[in-house]
Amino acid sequence: MSTYDLIVIGAGAIGSAAAYHAARRGHSVLLLEQFEIDHQHGSSHGVSRIIRYAYDHPHYVRMSKVVYPMWRALEEDSGEQLMIASGGIDIGREHEPEIHNRVISLTAERIPFELLSTSEVLQRYPQFHLDHDQVALYQADTGVLRASHCVRAHVRLAEMRGAVVREKSHVEMISAAGDGVAVKANGEDYSAARLVLAAGGWANDLLGQVGLSLPLQVVRCQENYFAPEPAHEYEPGRFPAFIAHTQAEWGLPTYGIPSVDGSGLKVAWHGGARLGHPEESKSSPDAEVSDKARAWSKQYLPAADVALKSSRVCLYTMTPDEHFIIDRHPQNSQMVIGACCSGHAFKYSTLIGDIMVDLAMEGETSRDIDMFALSRFNVPV
Ligand SMILES: Cc1cc2nc3c(=O)[nH]c(=O)nc-3n(C[C@H](O)[C@H](O)[C@H](O)COP(=O)(O)OP(=O)(O)OC[C@H]3O[C@@H](n4cnc5c(N)ncnc54)[C@H](O)[C@@H]3O)c2cc1C
Repeated sequence: MSTYDLIVIGAGAIGSAAAYHAARRGHSVLLLEQFEIDHQHGSSHGVSRIIRYAYDHPHYVRMSKVVYPMWRALEEDSGEQLMIASGGIDIGREHEPEIHNRVISLTAERIPFELLSTSEVLQRYPQFHLDHDQVALYQADTGVLRASHCVRAHVRLAEMRGAVVREKSHVEMISAAGDGVAVKANGEDYSAARLVLAAGGWANDLLGQVGLSLPLQVVRCQENYFAPEPAHEYEPGRFPAFIAHTQAEWGLPTYGIPSVDGSGLKVAWHGGARLGHPEESKSSPDAEVSDKARAWSKQYLPAADVALKSSRVCLYTMTPDEHFIIDRHPQNSQMVIGACCSGHAFKYSTLIGDIMVDLAMEGETSRDIDMFALSRFNVPV
């Protein structure tokens, strides 16, 4: 049986980051992934994710202060550009909580921002045609992470530091074994001192074996890419990442990311159909969802009312309060759980991975993670 300091289950954004940070600290690491690295069935694959300070809760603004330098350090370590500056806007109405609370949290954390009127938006970003009573909260540091590159960089750099990476290795069993853990994947037995479980929407399949059931809801989302002309007007530098808090009219918030590496402009819904299990997610995109994204663009980004270039299905794993879960198993503290997606964890993945390694290997972390404790839910153990 092979033995390690740490076994990480799941090579999505979170697990790949945990493997990287553990290997970097000199631990022997085994990373087990049921599909290939950077596969399309989970939450972490793709061209782009938004990174931003502009949050309605100051705790996330504080986390952003920590995570931007960590991504820059990873860029240095990997020798590739992972983060692209774009600037970002939140579209909404000034008195509504989505804008008002961002103003409060950014102000409290001394992060500069501007509130732009409809006409100021039109001047700076003529691609947008907002309603007369809408404003845009502009924050210059908002950017785009090249998602698949980030995951691959974490995995590659972990391997370079000695981590063992097993793809197509489905974990069937986890259990506590004394102070350590036993894991079975594809019929092979492994053991380790500690376990990081970063299995995204599949987390409860394994947690049930160690007496835990988390209140997670898997949601099928869809990214839609359009290619408005002229193309350069929709690239970073000319076009911001945006979140439009227009859910009162459209059912869900809309977000968009400028065209990166020739992807086309992404326009997508923050949310989607609820699923019982990730396996229920059919991989083919839904035309109704992309048609609705195009209809949204017709109203607010008229030049983006063009035929769909491509679309792709992706999963969110939501907690009831949409905050992350980063904690140790209540009875088996050698197991650390990161079930934290809720549709906004990518930007923090390199930090969350590092925190999970703190918890697993040191038993504690200096980072403030009270907000992400399991105990806030009435979890049956
Ligand atoms: C369309 C979309 C847009 C998003 N936009 C943003 C954004 O702009 N900004 C942002 O910050 N966040 C964004 N997010 C959220 C972010 O991408 C996720 O929070 C993050 O990727 C979650 O990563 P994860 O590692 O927890 O999950 P996953 O990527 O799902 O990884 C879990 C991994 O565990 C593996 N696994 C599960 N069970 C087993 C098993 N038994 N054995 C072996 N392996 C197993 C899975 O195969 C998978 O690879 C977005 C998400 C989506 C889907």
